[in-house]
Amino acid sequence: MVHLVSDEHMNPAYLWLNGEVLRWEDATVHVTELGWSTVGAVFEGIRAYTSMDGGELFVFRLNEHMERFERSTRLVRLRTGRSVAEFNQIIIDLLRVNESMEDTYIRPLAYTAETGNKRFAQVGSDAAVLINTHPMATHLLTGMTMTAKVSSWRRISEDVMPPRIKNLSNYRNSSLGTTEARLDGYDTAIFLNTRGTVSEGPGSCLMMIKDGVLITPDVTSSILESITRDALMVLAREVLGMPVVERQVDRTELYTADELFTCGTAAEISPIVSVDHYDVGHGQIGPVTRRLEEEFNNVLRGNEKRFAHWRTPVYAGAAVRS
Ligand SMILES: *Cc1c(COP(=O)(O)O)cnc(C)c1O
Repeated sequence: MVHLVSDEHMNPAYLWLNGEVLRWEDATVHVTELGWSTVGAVFEGIRAYTSMDGGELFVFRLNEHMERFERSTRLVRLRTGRSVAEFNQIIIDLLRVNESMEDTYIRPLAYTAETGNKRFAQVGSDAAVLINTHPMATHLLTGMTMTAKVSSWRRISEDVMPPRIKNLSNYRNSSLGTTEARLDGYDTAIFLNTRGTVSEGPGSCLMMIKDGVLITPDVTSSILESITRDALMVLAREVLGMPVVERQVDRTELYTADELFTCGTAAEISPIVSVDHYDVGHGQIGPVTRRLEEEFNNVLRGNEKRFAHWRTPVYAGAAVRS
């Protein structure tokens, strides 16, 4: 079973809003900004992990996340007026001013500025950008498992909405599927795309192990172009020496897989032990999933010296202010 812990009350001292580091209490927007502003919003979800000795915090693949943020804003024609390199530095500085020293979630959000009395049909808009951070504990290696249901909701398709970017309005689709799954007694949903092949989970991509091969739906299966998915494919190939295949995946392959898990920044690696009441493998976390959890955790926390280019140290040896 999943145990969802709410971190909402653990607010940081500061956040960054449109060029200023503000105290949490002072970061307000006018009420007329709500509404259409969020229809046009895009965002990122990034994690930072503490080192083994607790003395450093590593942001995982910061640059790739902010490059995707830029692609998301480009696709919805929002202008942030800032470069990826600037945003990278802003995030590091924000983590420092908040003295973040535990596993942390970072959420940059770009929304249409000054929507007050306007409609949504403007061509291109200046973005307001909000970057918020809050503690988020890992569930890697905790033994957490999930049950899943193939959703009756299909994943949004490329001819309706852009599935490959983190577009806020896409997430009604995820929440409909998740709510249905929970009400039906499952922990999570698996979406098929409009073609009828497997797409992904809510806010997470999907991977399965079959006969020693790691298989995952390809990037034209209405999936989001996940950075975790990419990282795990590299780890499977280079560390576990496994073949990795990206291709269309059929629904019944979920029922005959040896191992199955969702992956993503929030999902990390979330083992799925049954789908539509079919046990996956032996109905418990499989050996490859377990190895990947270990290797991934080592990479995130810098226990593994390789893949250092995926980690941005926040303090880089500098003493943490107390
Ligand atoms: C964020 C997200 C993922 C996972 O992407 P990561 O880059 O690994 O965090 C997968 N699917 C959806 C819909 C997402 O929003």
